[in-house]
Amino acid sequence: SAPLLQVRGIARRYAMRRGLLGRPVDVRAVDGVSLTVERGRTLGLVGESGSGKSTTGRLALGLEPPDDGDVLFKGAPIPAAGTLAWRQMRARMQMIYQDPLGALDRRLSILEQVREPYDVHGIGEAGERGAMATALLQAVGLRADQGNRYPHELSGGQRQRAVIARALATKPDLLVCDEPVSALDVSIQAQVVNLLVDLQQELGLGLLFISHDLKVIRQVSHRVAVMYLGRIVEEGDADLLLASPAHPYTEALVSASPVPGRRARPRIVLQGDPPNPAARPSGCAFHPRCHAARERCKVESPRLLPLPDGRLTACHVAHDQANFLKAAS
Ligand code: SF4
Ligand code: MG
Repeated sequence: SAPLLQVRGIARRYAMRRGLLGRPVDVRAVDGVSLTVERGRTLGLVGESGSGKSTTGRLALGLEPPDDGDVLFKGAPIPAAGTLAWRQMRARMQMIYQDPLGALDRRLSILEQVREPYDVHGIGEAGERGAMATALLQAVGLRADQGNRYPHELSGGQRQRAVIARALATKPDLLVCDEPVSALDVSIQAQVVNLLVDLQQELGLGLLFISHDLKVIRQVSHRVAVMYLGRIVEEGDADLLLASPAHPYTEALVSASPVPGRRARPRIVLQGDPPNPAARPSGCAFHPRCHAARERCKVESPRLLPLPDGRLTACHVAHDQANFLKAAS
């Protein structure tokens, strides 16, 4: 059967002004991204801020239309935003944002908000919906009496649990989680991450999990895609990619996030400016910061191509090395 979510060559451009008086320049926020999320699996999308991860998440849900490419949900194109068909499809794909307080209505109790999707979509009998919402709260680790509280009366972690409960009310197949634990205390992050992993196993959810934090990505992902300035630069099996990155950018991210108990590889400190979509370097956009860059990298943009181990990598040097090894064997 068709994959749960298939993103094919999507692109999104914005007009962005450089400085107050600058002329607007055309910025490619997302530039030809293809991704697949399978049922019951997590694709981790990692990269620094400004890499286009959040825009990719919004495009994947049809919250904004791509300028190029298309998105298929269970094999069918996502209908235009705002239409009835889109609303019906959107119930099967939910988004979890970084800031649970912003996602909740501070004038309504937690229970009222978790119950709301049942009323909106006419799920269950009206008289049962309160009990259904309470069951959802318990499924995400909140007590029934916490449902009577208001958002500001809960901790950040409890609020994010409430947001997750509400997202589950429509029985989605896909969750797009955009930095879902980045705003939480580090001590709470693992609990919420574990909750998402447990729910995934129980409900067979597909997750598109967006984070700048490789430690979190490592905990949740079956596959990983690394994004830099609007493009995927490396994509593949999570264990393979994170244990032996082939792309110098992935290598730098991995070296900055050592696994406890495993011998750390030498730290690669990224030089130069963080990615700025309004000032995209020539050739390989990563070349000003790359420890492996060659002259060629300044002029020639590498394509995302498979290496012999099955992963995709966009790097001249990584492919040259693979070809050299193949020729030598
Ligand atoms: Fe570095 Fe060149 Fe590879 Fe880009 S193509 S990641 S600049 S080695
Ligand atoms: Mg973001």
